[in-house]
Amino acid sequence: MLNRRKLLQGIGAAAVLGGFGGRLLAQAAPTDVIVIGAGGAGLTAAKELLAAGINVLVLEARDRIGGRAFTDTSLGVPWDRGCSWLHASDVNPLVAYARQNDFEVFADKFPRQIYDGPRRMGGAETAGYRAVQERMGREMKEAARRGLDIPAEAAFTQATLADPWYSMAESGLTSWEGIEPPNYSVLDSQQFIEEGDDLMIPRGYGTLLAHYAREVPVRLRTPVSRIRWTARGVTVDTNAGASSARVVVVALPTTVITDGAVIFSPHLPVEVLQAHHDLPLGLMNKVALRFKRNVFPSERTEFWQLRRKDGRRIEYLTRLWGSNVCIGLSAGRFAYELEAAGEAATIEHALTELTTMLGGDLRRQFDRGATTAWSSDPFARGSYSHCLPGRYGARAILARPVGGRIVFAGEHTEQTAYGTLHGAHMSGLRAAREARRLLAGSST
Ligand SMILES: Cc1cc2nc3c(=O)[nH]c(=O)nc-3n(C[C@H](O)[C@H](O)[C@H](O)COP(=O)(O)OP(=O)(O)OC[C@H]3O[C@@H](n4cnc5c(N)ncnc54)[C@H](O)[C@@H]3O)c2cc1C
Repeated sequence: MLNRRKLLQGIGAAAVLGGFGGRLLAQAAPTDVIVIGAGGAGLTAAKELLAAGINVLVLEARDRIGGRAFTDTSLGVPWDRGCSWLHASDVNPLVAYARQNDFEVFADKFPRQIYDGPRRMGGAETAGYRAVQERMGREMKEAARRGLDIPAEAAFTQATLADPWYSMAESGLTSWEGIEPPNYSVLDSQQFIEEGDDLMIPRGYGTLLAHYAREVPVRLRTPVSRIRWTARGVTVDTNAGASSARVVVVALPTTVITDGAVIFSPHLPVEVLQAHHDLPLGLMNKVALRFKRNVFPSERTEFWQLRRKDGRRIEYLTRLWGSNVCIGLSAGRFAYELEAAGEAATIEHALTELTTMLGGDLRRQFDRGATTAWSSDPFARGSYSHCLPGRYGARAILARPVGGRIVFAGEHTEQTAYGTLHGAHMSGLRAAREARRLLAGSST
């Protein structure tokens, strides 16, 4: 039953809507908070607000929840099209959630194998690779300690840049940020807290998020196009009409805003808009290959890559959970190149590389495959955020509410866990706290 306070809130909200006119999105009850985007950030914010008895409307453009966290079962084995590793397990709140809810969790201790053509390289031969990776880590840390908001590549000494293993190590860093080291801030990248093992969930990280959010009602297939805000409240325009609330949580990738797919009226303060531009999304894509039988020499899961100097790296997770599905990961420029070439060309490239390493009749054992295309996905427009060199501090700007009505959430707003699902989740917790604070302080 509505109490008097709620009823008055409803009138306030309706007044905002009335002021703008337009079709109304059917709402069961006056809305306190509209959450835009049902990815890890938006779902967390909504779940927290609902638990606090706040009336929430969640609007999602896709026909599913999860955003960049989505587990695909079309190949007979769950594989994550987006996030799959629970990074920083000592500080990742989703690890405890997984364990408490009977999700099996494994530490990624998979052996890393490097092939020089068809030959598997021995540990002594690849010692130089490990050494340059460690040196790069130290040099980046030192640049950040000195407060240098410079491109990550500028942190490296000439000796590092000239190392014969540098290009391989550089492509490893590219997978972390989704873009090459000249393009992101070393100071920003070094704020990420990386404590604990990387873990994986056989049922899928996307499945875990769906479980976490299973009771959050979400209005699917409802893309938002405009957010109108005043001192009195917010009105959100969608393909199904307009909807009003006292506060809005915007849990969208930065790219959706910088590309103009969602517009603010009046426009956002310049530093807030600029911060979105300063945190673009890089690219990681996956290719999943299903074989008719095991084509790999081992029954266990391993990480394979071909030694190459051109940065066109795909890293293969063989035998996902002991199955005949192999997942290849590409990042940065090469991922854009493959995405533009299309699914058939990407699968062909992966099969050629695997044949180089394995030889034999691998192609004849190929059953079917699938690829992701995150950069051309209109509701993601990339994979995860990085901070442009010289723009350190942009994440903190987006972690602050705007105009007493707008709260931003999303992995990009989380300085110590950006680019991850647990970062998105943590940002949702923060956004829910902020939204409650704004509700408590607002009169309408
Ligand atoms: C290939 C890949 C691999 C990754 N690997 C890992 C990993 O191993 N570990 C890890 O922790 N993280 C990983 N990530 C990153 C992780 O998936 C993201 O950081 C996280 O899921 C982002 O959550 P979010 O809520 O911030 O954004 P999103 O999940 O993108 O949620 C935003 C939501 O807004 C919706 N939306 C967009 N436009 C509109 C609109 N106009 N109106 C309404 N709704 C809209 C979207 O559909 C989406 O549901 C990976 C990502 C990718 C793509």
